[in-house]
Amino acid sequence: MKKVVKFGGSSLADAGQFRKVADIIHADPSRAYVVPSAPGKRFDGDTKVTDLLYALYHKAAEGGDMGPVLDTIRSRYQEIIDGLQLTDFSLDDQFAEIEARLKEDPQSDYAASRGEFLNAHIMARYLGYEFVDAAEVIFFDEDGNLESKRTKKAVAAKLENIPRAVIPGFYGMGHDGKIRTFSRGGSDITGSIVAGAVKADVYENWTDVSGFMVADPRIIKDPVNIDTITYRELRELSYMGASVLHEDAIFPVRGEGIPINIRNTNKPEDDGTWIVESTCQKSGYVITGIAGKKGFCTVLIYKALMNAEVGFGRRVLQAFEDNGISFEHMPSGIDTMTVVVHEDEFMHKEQKVISAIHRYVQPDVVEIESDLALIAVVGRGMKSMRGTAGRIFSALAHAKVNVRMIDQGSSELNIIIGVANEDFENAVRAIYDIFVVTQL
Ligand code: ASP
Repeated sequence: MKKVVKFGGSSLADAGQFRKVADIIHADPSRAYVVPSAPGKRFDGDTKVTDLLYALYHKAAEGGDMGPVLDTIRSRYQEIIDGLQLTDFSLDDQFAEIEARLKEDPQSDYAASRGEFLNAHIMARYLGYEFVDAAEVIFFDEDGNLESKRTKKAVAAKLENIPRAVIPGFYGMGHDGKIRTFSRGGSDITGSIVAGAVKADVYENWTDVSGFMVADPRIIKDPVNIDTITYRELRELSYMGASVLHEDAIFPVRGEGIPINIRNTNKPEDDGTWIVESTCQKSGYVITGIAGKKGFCTVLIYKALMNAEVGFGRRVLQAFEDNGISFEHMPSGIDTMTVVVHEDEFMHKEQKVISAIHRYVQPDVVEIESDLALIAVVGRGMKSMRGTAGRIFSALAHAKVNVRMIDQGSSELNIIIGVANEDFENAVRAIYDIFVVTQL
Protein backbone atom coordinates (compact mmCIF):
# COMPACT_ATOMS: atom_id res chain seq x y z
CA MET A 1 0.00 0.00 0.00
CA LYS A 2 1.37 3.40 -1.00
CA LYS A 3 -0.28 6.74 -0.34
CA VAL A 4 0.47 10.26 -1.46
CA VAL A 5 -0.70 12.85 1.03
CA LYS A 6 -1.18 16.51 0.25
CA PHE A 7 -1.74 19.05 2.99
CA GLY A 8 -3.34 22.42 2.31
CA GLY A 9 -2.24 25.77 3.70
CA SER A 10 -4.56 25.81 6.70
CA SER A 11 -3.21 22.36 7.69
CA LEU A 12 0.28 23.88 7.82
CA ALA A 13 -0.43 27.37 9.06
CA ASP A 14 1.54 27.05 12.31
CA ALA A 15 3.57 24.63 14.44
CA GLY A 16 0.47 23.15 16.08
CA GLN A 17 -0.93 22.26 12.67
CA PHE A 18 2.43 20.79 11.61
CA ARG A 19 2.27 18.50 14.63
CA LYS A 20 -1.19 17.29 13.67
CA VAL A 21 0.11 16.61 10.17
CA ALA A 22 3.09 14.63 11.48
CA ASP A 23 0.74 12.58 13.69
CA ILE A 24 -1.42 11.78 10.67
CA ILE A 25 1.61 10.74 8.63
CA HIS A 26 3.10 8.62 11.40
CA ALA A 27 -0.22 6.92 12.06
CA ASP A 28 0.01 5.14 8.70
CA PRO A 29 3.38 3.96 7.34
CA SER A 30 2.00 3.81 3.81
CA ARG A 31 1.86 7.63 3.75
CA ALA A 32 5.13 7.78 1.85
CA TYR A 33 5.06 10.94 -0.25
CA VAL A 34 4.04 14.26 1.20
CA VAL A 35 3.07 17.35 -0.79
CA PRO A 36 2.74 20.51 1.33
CA SER A 37 1.21 23.87 0.46
CA ALA A 38 2.57 27.13 1.85
CA PRO A 39 1.41 28.21 5.33
CA GLY A 40 -2.16 29.48 5.09
CA LYS A 41 -4.27 31.63 7.40
CA ARG A 42 -3.98 31.00 11.14
CA PHE A 43 -7.12 32.94 11.93
CA ASP A 44 -9.76 35.02 10.17
CA GLY A 45 -8.13 38.11 8.77
CA ASP A 46 -4.66 36.55 8.66
CA THR A 47 -2.67 36.62 5.38
CA LYS A 48 -1.53 33.53 3.50
CA VAL A 49 2.21 33.32 2.94
CA THR A 50 1.58 32.99 -0.81
CA ASP A 51 -0.17 36.38 -0.78
CA LEU A 52 2.73 37.87 1.17
CA LEU A 53 5.08 36.49 -1.47
CA TYR A 54 3.11 38.09 -4.29
CA ALA A 55 3.32 41.37 -2.34
CA LEU A 56 7.06 40.82 -1.99
CA TYR A 57 7.38 40.34 -5.72
CA HIS A 58 5.55 43.65 -6.36
CA LYS A 59 7.90 45.46 -4.02
CA ALA A 60 10.89 43.94 -5.81
CA ALA A 61 9.48 44.76 -9.26
CA GLU A 62 8.98 48.41 -8.24
CA GLY A 63 12.50 48.50 -6.89
CA GLY A 64 11.04 49.26 -3.45
CA ASP A 65 12.15 48.16 0.01
CA MET A 66 11.48 44.44 0.39
CA GLY A 67 12.55 44.49 4.04
CA PRO A 68 9.24 44.70 5.94
CA VAL A 69 7.37 42.07 3.87
CA LEU A 70 10.39 39.79 3.88
CA ASP A 71 10.58 40.08 7.66
CA THR A 72 6.91 39.17 8.01
CA ILE A 73 7.41 36.09 5.83
CA ARG A 74 10.58 35.13 7.66
CA SER A 75 8.84 35.36 11.01
CA ARG A 76 5.97 33.12 9.83
CA TYR A 77 8.49 30.35 9.12
CA GLN A 78 10.61 31.05 12.18
CA GLU A 79 7.53 30.70 14.36
CA ILE A 80 6.95 27.24 12.90
CA ILE A 81 10.61 26.24 13.26
CA ASP A 82 10.71 27.42 16.90
CA GLY A 83 7.37 25.83 17.70
CA LEU A 84 8.61 22.49 16.41
CA GLN A 85 11.88 22.94 18.35
CA LEU A 86 14.05 22.35 15.32
CA THR A 87 16.97 23.96 17.09
CA ASP A 88 19.74 23.21 14.63
CA PHE A 89 17.68 24.06 11.55
CA SER A 90 17.56 27.35 9.70
CA LEU A 91 16.25 28.74 6.42
CA ASP A 92 18.75 31.65 6.40
CA ASP A 93 20.53 30.47 3.26
CA GLN A 94 17.28 29.98 1.39
CA PHE A 95 16.05 33.45 2.40
CA ALA A 96 19.32 35.04 1.35
CA GLU A 97 19.00 33.44 -2.06
CA ILE A 98 15.36 34.48 -2.45
CA GLU A 99 16.20 38.07 -1.62
CA ALA A 100 19.15 38.16 -3.99
CA ARG A 101 17.24 36.60 -6.88
CA LEU A 102 14.26 38.88 -6.47
CA LYS A 103 16.54 41.93 -6.44
CA GLU A 104 18.36 40.80 -9.54
CA ASP A 105 15.47 39.49 -11.63
CA PRO A 106 12.04 39.79 -9.98
CA GLN A 107 9.60 37.13 -11.15
CA SER A 108 6.15 36.60 -9.80
CA ASP A 109 5.95 32.81 -10.20
CA TYR A 110 9.35 32.34 -8.63
CA ALA A 111 8.38 34.49 -5.65
CA ALA A 112 5.05 32.72 -5.13
CA SER A 113 6.58 29.26 -5.37
CA ARG A 114 8.91 29.89 -2.45
CA GLY A 115 6.05 29.44 0.01
CA GLU A 116 5.80 25.71 -0.65
CA PHE A 117 9.56 25.42 -1.24
CA LEU A 118 10.37 26.67 2.25
CA ASN A 119 7.53 24.80 3.91
CA ALA A 120 8.64 21.54 2.28
CA HIS A 121 12.13 22.07 3.68
CA ILE A 122 10.74 22.33 7.20
CA MET A 123 8.42 19.39 6.68
CA ALA A 124 11.17 17.16 5.27
CA ARG A 125 13.35 17.96 8.21
CA TYR A 126 10.61 17.48 10.78
CA LEU A 127 9.57 14.11 9.35
CA GLY A 128 13.08 12.93 8.48
CA TYR A 129 12.01 12.50 4.83
CA GLU A 130 14.04 13.46 1.79
CA PHE A 131 13.34 16.84 0.12
CA VAL A 132 12.74 16.56 -3.62
CA ASP A 133 12.51 19.88 -5.45
CA ALA A 134 9.45 20.04 -7.72
CA ALA A 135 11.52 22.13 -10.18
CA GLU A 136 13.54 18.99 -10.99
CA VAL A 137 10.59 16.82 -11.89
CA ILE A 138 7.56 18.92 -12.88
CA PHE A 139 7.73 20.60 -16.28
CA PHE A 140 5.69 23.20 -18.14
CA ASP A 141 5.68 23.85 -21.90
CA GLU A 142 6.13 27.20 -23.68
CA ASP A 143 2.49 28.10 -23.06
CA GLY A 144 2.74 27.40 -19.37
CA ASN A 145 0.79 24.13 -19.56
CA LEU A 146 1.91 21.04 -17.73
CA GLU A 147 3.99 18.64 -19.79
CA SER A 148 2.22 15.59 -18.44
CA LYS A 149 4.15 12.73 -19.97
CA ARG A 150 7.59 14.14 -19.34
CA THR A 151 6.62 15.08 -15.80
CA LYS A 152 5.16 11.70 -14.98
CA LYS A 153 8.29 9.94 -16.20
CA ALA A 154 10.58 12.26 -14.28
CA VAL A 155 8.62 11.99 -11.01
CA ALA A 156 8.46 8.18 -11.27
CA ALA A 157 12.18 7.91 -12.05
CA LYS A 158 13.17 10.28 -9.26
CA LEU A 159 11.07 8.63 -6.58
CA GLU A 160 11.81 5.07 -7.61
CA ASN A 161 14.63 4.78 -5.12
CA ILE A 162 13.41 7.26 -2.55
CA PRO A 163 10.96 5.49 -0.26
CA ARG A 164 9.83 8.63 1.61
CA ALA A 165 9.95 12.17 0.32
CA VAL A 166 8.48 15.64 0.65
CA ILE A 167 7.77 17.36 -2.68
CA PRO A 168 6.62 21.00 -2.54
CA GLY A 169 3.32 21.71 -4.26
CA PHE A 170 2.24 24.45 -6.67
CA TYR A 171 5.25 24.84 -8.97
CA GLY A 172 7.66 23.29 -11.43
CA MET A 173 10.12 24.29 -14.13
CA GLY A 174 9.14 26.29 -17.21
CA HIS A 175 10.45 25.74 -20.71
CA ASP A 176 12.77 28.72 -20.32
CA GLY A 177 14.42 27.30 -17.21
CA LYS A 178 12.43 29.62 -14.93
CA ILE A 179 10.08 28.58 -12.15
CA ARG A 180 6.41 28.35 -13.14
CA THR A 181 3.41 27.88 -10.89
CA PHE A 182 0.01 26.38 -11.46
CA SER A 183 -2.99 28.62 -10.85
CA ARG A 184 -3.94 29.31 -7.23
CA GLY A 185 -4.65 26.20 -5.18
CA GLY A 186 -2.38 24.27 -7.51
CA SER A 187 -0.69 22.11 -4.86
CA ASP A 188 -3.68 19.83 -5.33
CA ILE A 189 -2.43 19.21 -8.86
CA THR A 190 1.11 18.45 -7.68
CA GLY A 191 -0.26 15.86 -5.24
CA SER A 192 -2.25 14.28 -8.02
CA ILE A 193 0.75 14.21 -10.36
CA VAL A 194 2.89 12.50 -7.73
CA ALA A 195 0.14 10.00 -6.92
CA GLY A 196 -0.32 9.17 -10.61
CA ALA A 197 3.42 8.85 -11.24
CA VAL A 198 4.17 6.51 -8.31
CA LYS A 199 0.92 4.60 -8.93
CA ALA A 200 -0.27 5.23 -5.42
CA ASP A 201 -3.20 3.27 -4.04
CA VAL A 202 -4.80 6.45 -2.73
CA TYR A 203 -4.27 10.17 -3.09
CA GLU A 204 -5.20 11.71 0.24
CA ASN A 205 -5.93 15.41 0.10
CA TRP A 206 -5.98 16.87 3.63
CA THR A 207 -7.73 20.15 4.18
CA ASP A 208 -9.88 21.92 6.78
CA VAL A 209 -13.25 20.38 5.93
CA SER A 210 -14.35 16.76 6.06
CA GLY A 211 -14.86 16.52 2.33
CA PHE A 212 -17.46 17.79 -0.07
CA MET A 213 -20.83 18.84 1.14
CA VAL A 214 -24.08 18.24 -0.67
CA ALA A 215 -24.62 22.00 -0.93
CA ASP A 216 -22.77 25.22 -0.26
CA PRO A 217 -22.58 25.85 3.52
CA ARG A 218 -22.94 29.58 2.87
CA ILE A 219 -26.47 28.85 1.67
CA ILE A 220 -27.41 25.75 3.68
CA LYS A 221 -26.53 25.57 7.36
CA ASP A 222 -24.52 22.44 8.18
CA PRO A 223 -25.19 20.54 4.97
CA VAL A 224 -24.53 16.80 4.99
CA ASN A 225 -21.28 15.41 3.64
CA ILE A 226 -20.83 13.43 0.46
CA ASP A 227 -19.29 9.99 1.21
CA THR A 228 -18.50 8.94 -2.33
CA ILE A 229 -18.58 10.90 -5.55
CA THR A 230 -17.42 9.96 -9.04
CA TYR A 231 -14.89 12.01 -10.98
CA ARG A 232 -17.59 12.97 -13.44
CA GLU A 233 -19.99 14.14 -10.77
CA LEU A 234 -17.22 16.13 -9.20
CA ARG A 235 -16.35 17.79 -12.50
CA GLU A 236 -19.95 18.94 -12.82
CA LEU A 237 -20.08 20.23 -9.27
CA SER A 238 -16.71 21.95 -9.22
CA TYR A 239 -17.34 23.55 -12.56
CA MET A 240 -20.48 25.01 -11.08
CA GLY A 241 -18.67 26.43 -8.12
CA ALA A 242 -18.16 23.74 -5.45
CA SER A 243 -14.56 24.36 -4.45
CA VAL A 244 -12.57 22.08 -2.21
CA LEU A 245 -10.19 20.65 -4.75
CA HIS A 246 -8.50 22.40 -7.70
CA GLU A 247 -10.48 21.58 -10.85
CA ASP A 248 -7.46 20.20 -12.69
CA ALA A 249 -6.39 17.94 -9.85
CA ILE A 250 -8.44 14.99 -10.93
CA PHE A 251 -6.83 14.40 -14.30
CA PRO A 252 -3.46 12.85 -13.33
CA VAL A 253 -5.04 10.31 -10.97
CA ARG A 254 -8.12 9.71 -13.05
CA GLY A 255 -5.99 8.27 -15.84
CA GLU A 256 -4.59 5.73 -13.38
CA GLY A 257 -7.84 4.85 -11.65
CA ILE A 258 -6.53 6.13 -8.31
CA PRO A 259 -9.17 7.32 -5.84
CA ILE A 260 -8.86 10.67 -4.07
CA ASN A 261 -9.80 10.86 -0.43
CA ILE A 262 -10.54 14.35 0.90
CA ARG A 263 -9.79 14.41 4.63
CA ASN A 264 -9.88 16.90 7.49
CA THR A 265 -6.58 17.54 9.30
CA ASN A 266 -8.50 18.84 12.30
CA LYS A 267 -10.78 15.79 12.38
CA PRO A 268 -8.69 12.87 11.17
CA GLU A 269 -11.28 10.43 12.52
CA ASP A 270 -13.76 11.50 9.80
CA ASP A 271 -13.72 9.33 6.67
CA GLY A 272 -14.09 12.36 4.41
CA THR A 273 -15.17 12.12 0.79
CA TRP A 274 -13.98 9.47 -1.66
CA ILE A 275 -13.66 10.56 -5.27
CA VAL A 276 -13.65 7.50 -7.49
CA GLU A 277 -13.82 6.49 -11.14
CA SER A 278 -16.96 4.48 -10.70
CA THR A 279 -18.79 2.91 -7.80
CA CYS A 280 -21.69 0.71 -6.95
CA GLN A 281 -22.00 2.55 -3.62
CA LYS A 282 -25.33 4.27 -3.62
CA SER A 283 -25.22 7.81 -2.34
CA GLY A 284 -27.34 8.32 0.74
CA TYR A 285 -29.68 10.52 -1.27
CA VAL A 286 -30.94 10.47 -4.84
CA ILE A 287 -28.75 13.42 -5.62
CA THR A 288 -25.03 13.64 -4.88
CA GLY A 289 -24.74 17.39 -4.78
CA ILE A 290 -26.09 20.79 -5.74
CA ALA A 291 -23.94 23.66 -6.92
CA GLY A 292 -24.51 26.80 -8.86
CA LYS A 293 -23.39 30.22 -9.95
CA LYS A 294 -24.96 33.55 -10.67
CA GLY A 295 -24.19 35.88 -13.54
CA PHE A 296 -25.18 34.21 -16.79
CA CYS A 297 -27.16 35.54 -19.71
CA THR A 298 -29.05 33.92 -22.52
CA VAL A 299 -29.00 34.81 -26.17
CA LEU A 300 -32.16 33.58 -27.84
CA ILE A 301 -32.10 33.26 -31.61
CA TYR A 302 -35.42 32.80 -33.36
CA LYS A 303 -35.80 31.98 -37.01
CA ALA A 304 -38.73 30.30 -38.69
CA LEU A 305 -37.76 26.95 -40.20
CA MET A 306 -34.31 27.00 -38.66
CA ASN A 307 -34.65 23.27 -38.13
CA ALA A 308 -34.35 22.67 -41.87
CA GLU A 309 -31.23 24.77 -42.33
CA VAL A 310 -28.14 22.58 -42.34
CA GLY A 311 -25.24 24.16 -40.42
CA PHE A 312 -27.39 26.71 -38.59
CA GLY A 313 -26.07 25.80 -35.15
CA ARG A 314 -22.47 25.85 -36.30
CA ARG A 315 -22.85 29.30 -37.80
CA VAL A 316 -24.47 30.68 -34.66
CA LEU A 317 -21.65 29.32 -32.54
CA GLN A 318 -19.16 30.77 -35.00
CA ALA A 319 -20.39 34.23 -33.98
CA PHE A 320 -19.41 33.45 -30.40
CA GLU A 321 -16.13 31.83 -31.35
CA ASP A 322 -15.13 34.82 -33.47
CA ASN A 323 -15.40 36.92 -30.35
CA GLY A 324 -13.56 34.49 -28.10
CA ILE A 325 -16.62 33.60 -26.03
CA SER A 326 -17.26 30.07 -24.82
CA PHE A 327 -20.80 28.96 -24.22
CA GLU A 328 -22.14 27.07 -21.22
CA HIS A 329 -25.33 25.47 -22.48
CA MET A 330 -27.44 25.44 -25.58
CA PRO A 331 -31.04 24.38 -25.15
CA SER A 332 -32.99 24.48 -28.39
CA GLY A 333 -36.51 24.30 -29.83
CA ILE A 334 -37.71 23.81 -33.39
CA ASP A 335 -37.33 27.42 -34.42
CA THR A 336 -35.25 28.67 -31.50
CA MET A 337 -31.80 28.21 -30.17
CA THR A 338 -30.61 29.63 -26.88
CA VAL A 339 -26.97 30.11 -26.06
CA VAL A 340 -26.10 30.55 -22.39
CA VAL A 341 -22.93 32.52 -21.69
CA HIS A 342 -21.13 34.15 -18.77
CA GLU A 343 -22.33 37.72 -18.35
CA ASP A 344 -18.92 39.23 -17.66
CA GLU A 345 -17.35 37.51 -20.66
CA PHE A 346 -20.20 38.50 -22.95
CA MET A 347 -21.36 41.94 -21.85
CA HIS A 348 -18.74 44.12 -23.49
CA LYS A 349 -18.90 42.14 -26.74
CA GLU A 350 -22.66 41.71 -27.03
CA GLN A 351 -23.24 44.03 -29.98
CA LYS A 352 -20.41 42.43 -31.94
CA VAL A 353 -21.88 38.98 -31.33
CA ILE A 354 -25.37 40.07 -32.32
CA SER A 355 -24.19 41.57 -35.58
CA ALA A 356 -22.14 38.45 -36.31
CA ILE A 357 -25.23 36.30 -35.72
CA HIS A 358 -27.17 38.50 -38.15
CA ARG A 359 -24.42 38.15 -40.71
CA TYR A 360 -24.13 34.39 -40.41
CA VAL A 361 -27.74 33.23 -40.08
CA GLN A 362 -30.11 36.15 -40.75
CA PRO A 363 -32.36 35.40 -37.74
CA ASP A 364 -35.89 36.79 -37.32
CA VAL A 365 -35.20 37.86 -33.74
CA VAL A 366 -32.28 37.92 -31.33
CA GLU A 367 -33.11 38.52 -27.68
CA ILE A 368 -30.80 38.83 -24.72
CA GLU A 369 -31.81 38.22 -21.13
CA SER A 370 -29.47 38.71 -18.20
CA ASP A 371 -29.31 38.02 -14.44
CA LEU A 372 -29.60 34.29 -14.81
CA ALA A 373 -28.27 31.88 -12.19
CA LEU A 374 -27.56 28.27 -13.08
CA ILE A 375 -27.98 25.44 -10.62
CA ALA A 376 -26.62 21.98 -11.29
CA VAL A 377 -28.32 19.12 -9.51
CA VAL A 378 -25.89 16.25 -9.89
CA GLY A 379 -26.24 12.58 -9.09
CA ARG A 380 -25.39 9.22 -10.56
CA GLY A 381 -28.49 7.91 -8.78
CA MET A 382 -30.87 10.09 -10.80
CA LYS A 383 -30.70 7.82 -13.84
CA SER A 384 -32.43 4.94 -12.18
CA MET A 385 -34.92 7.00 -10.25
CA ARG A 386 -38.29 8.00 -11.58
CA GLY A 387 -39.61 11.45 -10.86
CA THR A 388 -36.40 13.28 -9.94
CA ALA A 389 -37.09 16.16 -12.29
CA GLY A 390 -40.70 16.25 -11.13
CA ARG A 391 -39.61 16.57 -7.51
CA ILE A 392 -37.20 19.37 -8.32
CA PHE A 393 -39.81 21.38 -10.18
CA SER A 394 -42.55 20.90 -7.65
CA ALA A 395 -40.13 21.95 -4.90
CA LEU A 396 -39.26 25.07 -6.88
CA ALA A 397 -42.92 25.81 -7.55
CA HIS A 398 -43.66 25.55 -3.83
CA ALA A 399 -40.81 27.91 -3.10
CA LYS A 400 -42.32 30.31 -5.68
CA VAL A 401 -39.24 30.14 -7.87
CA ASN A 402 -39.81 30.60 -11.56
CA VAL A 403 -37.71 28.25 -13.71
CA ARG A 404 -36.30 30.10 -16.69
CA MET A 405 -34.37 27.29 -18.29
CA ILE A 406 -33.91 23.54 -18.02
CA ASP A 407 -31.17 21.43 -19.53
CA GLN A 408 -30.69 17.74 -18.89
CA GLY A 409 -27.90 15.97 -20.72
CA SER A 410 -28.59 12.48 -21.97
CA SER A 411 -26.05 11.12 -19.48
CA GLU A 412 -28.73 11.86 -16.88
CA LEU A 413 -25.94 12.73 -14.50
CA ASN A 414 -27.20 16.23 -13.97
CA ILE A 415 -30.06 18.59 -14.47
CA ILE A 416 -29.23 22.24 -15.02
CA ILE A 417 -31.83 24.74 -13.97
CA GLY A 418 -31.77 28.43 -14.79
CA VAL A 419 -33.47 30.82 -12.35
CA ALA A 420 -33.28 34.55 -11.76
CA ASN A 421 -30.18 35.60 -9.81
CA GLU A 422 -32.38 36.80 -6.96
CA ASP A 423 -34.05 33.38 -6.65
CA PHE A 424 -30.77 31.50 -6.53
CA GLU A 425 -30.42 30.87 -2.78
CA ASN A 426 -34.10 30.05 -2.38
CA ALA A 427 -33.96 27.57 -5.19
CA VAL A 428 -30.91 25.79 -3.75
CA ARG A 429 -32.64 25.59 -0.36
CA ALA A 430 -35.79 24.17 -1.89
CA ILE A 431 -33.90 21.47 -3.79
CA TYR A 432 -31.77 20.56 -0.77
CA ASP A 433 -34.86 20.36 1.34
CA ILE A 434 -36.76 18.01 -0.89
CA PHE A 435 -33.87 15.56 -1.42
CA VAL A 436 -32.03 15.70 1.88
CA VAL A 437 -34.13 17.14 4.68
CA THR A 438 -37.65 15.92 4.05
CA GLN A 439 -36.79 13.36 1.36
CA LEU A 440 -40.35 13.54 0.16
N1 ASP B 1 -0.09 28.29 -1.90
C1 ASP B 1 -0.75 28.35 -3.15
C2 ASP B 1 -2.02 29.19 -3.03
O1 ASP B 1 -2.27 29.81 -2.00
C3 ASP B 1 -1.02 27.03 -3.73
C4 ASP B 1 -1.81 26.09 -2.86
O2 ASP B 1 -1.99 26.33 -1.69
O3 ASP B 1 -2.24 25.05 -3.38
O4 ASP B 1 -2.76 29.27 -3.96
